[in-house]
Amino acid sequence: MTGKLVIGNWKMNGRLAANLALLDALQANAAVQAAQVAVAPPFAYLGQAATVLAGSNIALAAQDVSAFDKDGAYTGEVSAAMLADVGCRYVLIGHSERRQYFAEDHALLARKLQAAVAAGLIPVYCVGETLAEREADAYKAVIAEQLAVLGALAGHDYVVAYEPVWAIGTGKVASVEQIDEVHQFIRETVLQCHGASDSIRVLYGGSVKADNADAILSLQSVGGALVGGASLDVESFGRICQAA
Ligand code: PGA
Repeated sequence: MTGKLVIGNWKMNGRLAANLALLDALQANAAVQAAQVAVAPPFAYLGQAATVLAGSNIALAAQDVSAFDKDGAYTGEVSAAMLADVGCRYVLIGHSERRQYFAEDHALLARKLQAAVAAGLIPVYCVGETLAEREADAYKAVIAEQLAVLGALAGHDYVVAYEPVWAIGTGKVASVEQIDEVHQFIRETVLQCHGASDSIRVLYGGSVKADNADAILSLQSVGGALVGGASLDVESFGRICQAA
């Protein structure tokens, strides 16, 4: 693992003009330039971002991918091969918003992971517990179950993102102790169950902001950050990249 990775998840935000301004500003930002960075715009703007970012150090990520791995009659779907074709390096899979609003289950996520690696993309597989699961002290069991779908990826490059659902977009950040504990747990689980090497990269996500990035990213168990809201603001995102 070399350096820490910061991925900006734009979610369902953006318009052509605003994207151009943001991407230009990111490319002009020294901290962003110096860090290992990716941005994940909505599907509709991946082509625009690929063009604007051509030749820059900022990689492209998609927010989701189809589980279908062959072209065909799947209206509305975007395949992993298409994402690779437009220049994506990473793809988010299993974000809690996908699990929650689109009922994505483990069987579907396993197919998405397979489709992604088959197309040469690096999946960023998101795991994390709800507040109720944390309060019931069930978070490790929940995360272990989510991690189980990674079993079939042995030998492929992938990233795990720990995003406690209760910390996403809420302004509530997990404490550094909570983050460190879960990140260690994820590393051990992946290592024991899937035989992955010790170099597995685990990102933290959930209300990462300029003012908490230092504390979070200085943890050795944290391999980077998955940033939602703050990724739409150059100043904040630049400071997070600085911390990385
Ligand atoms: P947030 O989102 O930074 O706005 O909490 C993180 C994410 O959902 O990836």
